[in-house]
Amino acid sequence: EPRMGTLLELFAAARRDHPDRVAITYFDGRLSYRELDELSDGLACHLVEQGVGPGDRVALYLQNVPQFAIALLAGWKAGAIVVPLNPMYRSRELTKILADARPAAVVSSEQGWHDVLGELAGPAGVRVAITTSELDLQTRHDPRLFAELERRPAAGCADLLAVARAHAGRRPPEVELSSSDVALLVYTSGTSGVPKGATNTHGNVVFNAEGMRIRVEKLGGNGIFGLAPLFHITGLVCELGAALALGRQLDLVYRFEPGVVLDALAEHRPCYMVGPSTAYMALMNHPDVTADHFSSLELVYSGGAPLPSAVVEDFRARYGHYIRNGYGLTETTATATSVPAHLEAPVDEESGTLSVGVPTYNTVLRIVDDAGQDLPVGEVGEIVVDGPMVVPSYWNKPEETAAGIRGGRLHTGDVGFMDAQGWFYVVDRKKDMINASGFKVWPREVEDVLYGHPAVREVAVVGVPDSYRGETVKAYVSLSAGASATAEELVAHCKRQLAAYKYPRSIEILDELPKTATGKILRRELRDTARAAAR
Ligand code: ATP
Repeated sequence: EPRMGTLLELFAAARRDHPDRVAITYFDGRLSYRELDELSDGLACHLVEQGVGPGDRVALYLQNVPQFAIALLAGWKAGAIVVPLNPMYRSRELTKILADARPAAVVSSEQGWHDVLGELAGPAGVRVAITTSELDLQTRHDPRLFAELERRPAAGCADLLAVARAHAGRRPPEVELSSSDVALLVYTSGTSGVPKGATNTHGNVVFNAEGMRIRVEKLGGNGIFGLAPLFHITGLVCELGAALALGRQLDLVYRFEPGVVLDALAEHRPCYMVGPSTAYMALMNHPDVTADHFSSLELVYSGGAPLPSAVVEDFRARYGHYIRNGYGLTETTATATSVPAHLEAPVDEESGTLSVGVPTYNTVLRIVDDAGQDLPVGEVGEIVVDGPMVVPSYWNKPEETAAGIRGGRLHTGDVGFMDAQGWFYVVDRKKDMINASGFKVWPREVEDVLYGHPAVREVAVVGVPDSYRGETVKAYVSLSAGASATAEELVAHCKRQLAAYKYPRSIEILDELPKTATGKILRRELRDTARAAAR
């Protein structure tokens, strides 16, 4: 197997070359590359002293705080596998993941420890507990995020910054990490059910972080803005991974809150940003937003969730930036395809779908039928990804691994097609197809049409049982601030643009659509609600 190195090596090179550069900004706080290295050395020494070693799991239960980067690097320096936990998860979700990952150590916010994790850690076999205050590394608190918070040290837990500083000047014993060692165990957020841990290797991570580095390296401006959460693979690899590989600055805010993000953009003036499409929609909908907020940006990417072309056009018309689409999964260590930095993505004429771009270098995407046979150009089938960023397996799940990752190729469960020029289009999730009188309806196409209506903010289209057609199409919609539209108007809008079997027979207008912590609309939850109501 060829050597690919690790992100830790790229970070070491960045630290050597520019020790005093800012690695992370966080409100008024700053950490240089040297400080990040020293603090993570100190924390790694503590982990090693406590018996954490190669292959052990170190779970992080943190928002987008600088301590996330310290703990990630410390875990790797100790040779451990880092398990990012969604900080919005509560007992029910965490219990399942802890039982599967069996971490030796956890690094948690004080708040998260007191509220949820503390009572689960002991029973889950966690031996080493480290907590950190959300208020540690900043001087100016944003009341929109931290109004309720106070410092609350927890009994039996070491304090992250205290132990890191107590080991100042010491380095952990050298561990040999190879490309095929698992770097991260990342649980998919579960829009499809049971969480599965993807085993992202150091080779997987460094491959995609390098890809980001190449893209951002050419930009003249400041840093990378952390719009996506770090516990999610997009934030981990495309934001933190890219920044560490480049030796650039990463601007973090505690969590996504549109007003706070706009202020941070104005203050830090980043050159590159990536996040889910819903984050862009939320920013556009904020009353204070102006083109100035985005004026420092040179490249803007959206990934991890469908990006309607109407949103891209709207964003460009208002702020002058073209949002480039990218597609990938946790299992592809974030990016599998993206729109190259110098190009714009085509839109499929028939369905109006915006392309997700072309495969990352050294990566092949196939479109296959149910028997796994390659389909010709233009035909719709399952997307299979074959590239150096595909995880080798799911943790503890030989059956799921055998079903989903065959011979290093990931069967994504997404349905799409390739055009004659080699651009890829994601039609929808295989499981989300609606069958109306035997006609296939892909919710995303109907959603794209609704996004084209000026009053519409967010949409989820689902299939509901129907005694005549088997299933019919239903849409849930939220409206933009200050806009108004009736369900009848929206149905008429769809009817004008879609075949008769595709347009929604009913539309329900809600204040907000339910979303995952990463900002994806929980279409499946709405489908279950709609189905229960139809019964
Ligand atoms: P699950 O638990 O079902 O795997 P998840 O949302 O938790 O879902 P992720 O790995 O976070 O899993 O997301 C991957 C999925 O997001 C892809 O399979 C695809 O359906 C969707 N997706 C990602 N990027 C895009 C894009 N640019 N356009 C359309 N869909 C996208």
